[in-house]
Amino acid sequence: MDLILDEEQIEFQQTFRKFCEQEIAPLADCIEAEGIQNEVYRKLGSAGYLGLLHPEQYGGQGASFLTAVLAQSALAYHCGSTFFSSGASAGLAGLPISHFGSEEQKARFLPGLISGQSVGCLAVTESGSGSDVASIATTLKRQPAGLLLNGNKAYITNAPNADFALVLARYCRDGQIPSGASGLTLCIVDLHSAGVSRGQPLKKMGLRGSPTGELFFDNVEIPEANILGRPGAGFRQTMKAFDWERLSMGAYCLGVMEACLDESRSFAKKRKSFGRAISRHQSVAFMLADIKTRLEASRLMLFETAWLFDRAGGSGKLEHNGEILELSARASELKLMTSQYARECTNLAVQIHGGAGYMEEYRVSRLYRDIKISEIGGGTSEIQKQIIARAETRRSAAV
Ligand SMILES: Cc1cc2nc3c(=O)[nH]c(=O)nc-3n(C[C@H](O)[C@H](O)[C@H](O)COP(=O)(O)OP(=O)(O)OC[C@H]3O[C@@H](n4cnc5c(N)ncnc54)[C@H](O)[C@@H]3O)c2cc1C
Repeated sequence: MDLILDEEQIEFQQTFRKFCEQEIAPLADCIEAEGIQNEVYRKLGSAGYLGLLHPEQYGGQGASFLTAVLAQSALAYHCGSTFFSSGASAGLAGLPISHFGSEEQKARFLPGLISGQSVGCLAVTESGSGSDVASIATTLKRQPAGLLLNGNKAYITNAPNADFALVLARYCRDGQIPSGASGLTLCIVDLHSAGVSRGQPLKKMGLRGSPTGELFFDNVEIPEANILGRPGAGFRQTMKAFDWERLSMGAYCLGVMEACLDESRSFAKKRKSFGRAISRHQSVAFMLADIKTRLEASRLMLFETAWLFDRAGGSGKLEHNGEILELSARASELKLMTSQYARECTNLAVQIHGGAGYMEEYRVSRLYRDIKISEIGGGTSEIQKQIIARAETRRSAAV
């Protein structure tokens, strides 16, 4: 077992950390106050970040998942909002196009996403359908005049600023509306098309720089060439997109925990009470130890999971240490554990800061507000437990 990053990965990590320190950290307060600007996507595009997991022929880097999570955690360390908005564009929208799109779709959409010239989003959730993805009501109906999209989407990252959305809809033909997951279809929707409207950006507890909103579709004409893969493949494609999202959520949580540790360590060394630095009070020292331990456990699981994704080479299962491992369940385990640990770490970090931690001028207050999304977005913790438990049940059934 070799848990050592190679020289290229270490060099890349150092270079990308430096980029984040110089180009993202100084913008983080402005992004929080005013929302992410197009310039930030372009910076991330020029740095190669948006293309990490995309093929070189469209401007990507063709990098490994392990390399990608190194960069994702470095970005999350400095700005959660930038991490989420760029991830929704290049990851949530971009990766399904990369993996399931036609050559024509890849050539049309990937170069813009990878360079940061265009912004995408993945629109699955609806006002009446979140965890239960298969219950969505948006329809994509085949009419004599062509394909028409009708419905609405809620809580969509980048809905207010995206150029296009990958929309999950129920494909209907011959007047039939299929139920459950069977007819679900992903289609690429130009958000500047007639019949598309957007709600106001929603006011949120955290991630205030990452715009979230609603999308409304009223008889939007969808070209046949914008269906991803084939009609009916959408549920499986969406679940795959969630696997990738859950892996990157682990990277987000790691970045947040690293920020908690650095902020808390330096604060605890400077702040004095009862004649000494608070880091010398045992209860404060123990809080630092708890952050550090959660962080290191998360780092190990993140790196191993990314490495497993790389080894699986697109397959959903692989043999690992004598066991058959379901990659979806592993991604859920990673997200479940790291999101809980990261939330606990932000709480500890605010506690170490005392009253200062409650003030917006201290970074830990933003980390505390932002982190809650990790237990909700990309599937709630309860849904992750279901996925893990179902995989285990299948395993025992196979024995
Ligand atoms: C900031 C933000 C950004 C988002 N970005 C996107 C995006 O880009 N694209 C997108 O499509 N969606 C996005 N979402 C939506 C997100 O994926 C959903 O909020 C999430 O999946 C939960 O769905 P819900 O809110 O409808 O909660 P519900 O499904 O209504 O769940 C409510 C509660 O019930 C529990 N619950 C539900 N069903 C079960 C069950 N079977 N067993 C046990 N417990 C259950 C849940 O765990 C939760 O605690 C975003 C959400 C937020 C907050």
